Amino acid sequence: MTSPRWERAIVFVDMDAFFASIEQRDHPELRGKPIGITNGEIGTCFITCSYEARKYGIRTGMRIKQARQLCPEVIQVPARPYRYAQVSTDIMSELRLVTPDVEVFSVDEAFLDVTRCQKIYDSPIEAGKLAKQLVYDVSGVTCSVGISGDKTTAKHAAKTAKKGKTTGLFSVFPWEARDYLSALPVTELSGISTGIGDYLNDRGVYVCGDMHNFPIGELAGRFGNLGRRIWYMAQGQDPELVKQSVAAPKSIGHGKVMPPNTKSLTTVKMYLHHMIEKVAARLRKHQLEAQTYFIGVKTNEGWLAQKMQTYIPTNDSQLTKKLVNVFLREVWNKQGCSQVQVTALDPKLEGYQLSLFESHDSQRDQINLAMDKINQRYGEFTLAPANLIKRSQMPNVIAPAWKPFGHRKTV
Ligand SMILES: [Mg+2]
Repeated sequence: MTSPRWERAIVFVDMDAFFASIEQRDHPELRGKPIGITNGEIGTCFITCSYEARKYGIRTGMRIKQARQLCPEVIQVPARPYRYAQVSTDIMSELRLVTPDVEVFSVDEAFLDVTRCQKIYDSPIEAGKLAKQLVYDVSGVTCSVGISGDKTTAKHAAKTAKKGKTTGLFSVFPWEARDYLSALPVTELSGISTGIGDYLNDRGVYVCGDMHNFPIGELAGRFGNLGRRIWYMAQGQDPELVKQSVAAPKSIGHGKVMPPNTKSLTTVKMYLHHMIEKVAARLRKHQLEAQTYFIGVKTNEGWLAQKMQTYIPTNDSQLTKKLVNVFLREVWNKQGCSQVQVTALDPKLEGYQLSLFESHDSQRDQINLAMDKINQRYGEFTLAPANLIKRSQMPNVIAPAWKPFGHRKTV
């Protein structure tokens, strides 16, 4: 039986214990065991942990010491951000098979707008089932799926799906979303900060149902568009659209024309180094790194070029300049040339980390702050990148708010 067409149909996909699941999939000896992921070897708290660890009460942000008191056999596993980024990217591109309207919400979460695909799938629920299956097939990681007519309700439905531990999929008909949310404390909605929560509580709005009789004008007057949105959110009508994410560029390159028949090593080197600087700056500007570079000069006989690799993905021109020097030494034979080109191939997002993870006193607070940050961003009707910082001494790590590719519009 096909269900009636939904006015809007949103699928929210949330990977289950993402980092820990990847480690358990890649390392069979960790399967079924309580493991906690740390920020490199020296991390003192768990960024996240496996379900087996959670059974002992171990939580995200907990110090290893404390976790060991709860479960002495918990295994510490250093994070492998590049691996997680890779799996995340695979998953996100797979989800685009369900619908092109995919918003990469974080490294392990995505919104899919399947409104326009309702003719293809018998119902949005079928689209959700497909998303769940595809994620598992491509990554071996399970996910929880929430389906409804708006983002807020779909997100909450995924939470319900996770708790249910049945199929990992839960749907709320859009016309039932208002009732579904009515007993839920407003403070549990994504994007309601403590400030807004207190404001609402002070005015007798505790659960979403209390919002039914609260004038929207009051919220709008106090919090502007966000206030207006919250009013709708609490009633299962979150107006926010799924913002389509754009894939990362396939390459970033710069070229320049030189005086004809240039044969001077100093000049060619200078031009190539200049291109290297420009490419590196552009990679850094977009928090990308690349490991493979195309380096070339145009001679009278055509392009003399080579694909070259750095040891690690980088956007540091000091490393890539070495490639140029090797190229000039081993590939170029002083042929006269008229053009240079440097292109970074297949750039990937840097392993960045939130400043919150290292600058605050209590690590637990840091994680909470990071979580709040996500919620705030979600609530602020914006996709501004999280508060990212320059590289630190610590090994690269991905914070939960991190996104693989896509929040940038252009490069
Ligand atoms: Mg998750």
